[in-house]
Amino acid sequence: MTEQDAAGAAATAGGAIETDAVIIGAGPAGLFQVFELGLLGIKSHIVDTLKHPGGQCAELYPDKPIYDIPALPVCGAQELVDRLMQQIKPFEPVFHLGEEVVELQPRPDGRFDLATSASTRFVARTVVIAAGLGSFQPRRLGVEGADAFEDRQVHYRVKSSADFHGQRLVIFGGGDSALDWVIDLNEKAKSIVHVHRRSEFRAAPASVARMRELVAAGRMTYVEGIAAGIRSEGGRLAGVTVKCTDGTTRDFGADHVLAFFGLHPKLGPIAEWGFELEKKAIKVDTAKFQTSVPGIYAIGDINTYPGKKKLILSGFHEAALAAFAIAEHLNPAKKVHLQYTTTSPIMQKRLGVNA
Ligand SMILES: Cc1cc2nc3c(=O)[nH]c(=O)nc-3n(C[C@H](O)[C@H](O)[C@H](O)COP(=O)(O)OP(=O)(O)OC[C@H]3O[C@@H](n4cnc5c(N)ncnc54)[C@H](O)[C@@H]3O)c2cc1C
Repeated sequence: MTEQDAAGAAATAGGAIETDAVIIGAGPAGLFQVFELGLLGIKSHIVDTLKHPGGQCAELYPDKPIYDIPALPVCGAQELVDRLMQQIKPFEPVFHLGEEVVELQPRPDGRFDLATSASTRFVARTVVIAAGLGSFQPRRLGVEGADAFEDRQVHYRVKSSADFHGQRLVIFGGGDSALDWVIDLNEKAKSIVHVHRRSEFRAAPASVARMRELVAAGRMTYVEGIAAGIRSEGGRLAGVTVKCTDGTTRDFGADHVLAFFGLHPKLGPIAEWGFELEKKAIKVDTAKFQTSVPGIYAIGDINTYPGKKKLILSGFHEAALAAFAIAEHLNPAKKVHLQYTTTSPIMQKRLGVNA
């Protein structure tokens, strides 16, 4: 395998990025896949729906300790992600964060077309699906009719805060995102009603204190309760009904509803790509971690095989074997020999280290 892909990774074909490998998912398995491919001289592009790398470790339990990473008696989940990011740095992966891979299709020439939610397109010679439990999606409001207003008047992220200036807002949630927007938009919105289901908040105490100050100053309303329904008039959302914890039901007029209930993984488009699935996981062999489609591999929590354990170290092992299989797939005429990083000059050159 040559380093020719450094140029190939940047080349474009009709606007699509041509590359040897696209990795779907920047969780621990996807990140380590970058490393294992890099050792073999293969550059990669890596795509994740989240705006940051780390998958479940970063999104679900960043501050929790992990005790079963080999040679690290204890390692914080975010620390593990930071260490992986440091380890893969020499291989200069191209990150496409905040983008979901929504299309994956084989091409007649044996390569694959991929497209993301941000309209990035790839033509890839191999694909590694490292999608974990699925792509992280915002938890929805969960009241009838809200879907019809999504992105117009019901929002799960703020694309442009200017859209909410001078508007009547109802903001749901008790985490940092909700509180940050309650505070940030306070002076700019026409009115703000903040709704949270209980008296405890996950947000920083200083933000909660600031919100309470704004309520005391009469600059916004705070209500403890949950969304019970939405009201529409003439095809537009006109208000939200809140079932309060004191047993009352209140209606608030609103131009926009913003809900920040955190993210949860959803298998999403992967379910439609025609792979053989078992309990929402993609079946692979245990020599190459290849799916039923030659050239497409699946590693980490997204795959299944006899004896599979959804552990980080399983994903690391799978990434190593998939990298060898990918090297052979890319260059079938060339045997890929096992080399040790300790003694291999070519690997050390790729790592940018001098032994
Ligand atoms: C609370 C908790 C504690 C845990 N503790 C441990 C532990 O102590 N030890 C251990 O070994 N394991 C632990 N685990 C499990 C471990 O976190 C997972 O095994 C690991 O994260 C799997 O890594 P992954 O890279 O396969 O997938 P994930 O970490 O799930 O990452 C997958 C990524 O793919 C992205 N993605 C999915 N679909 C798409 C798409 N179509 N387009 C773009 N991106 C997409 C997702 O957004 C996600 O970021 C724990 C899990 C939890 C929830």
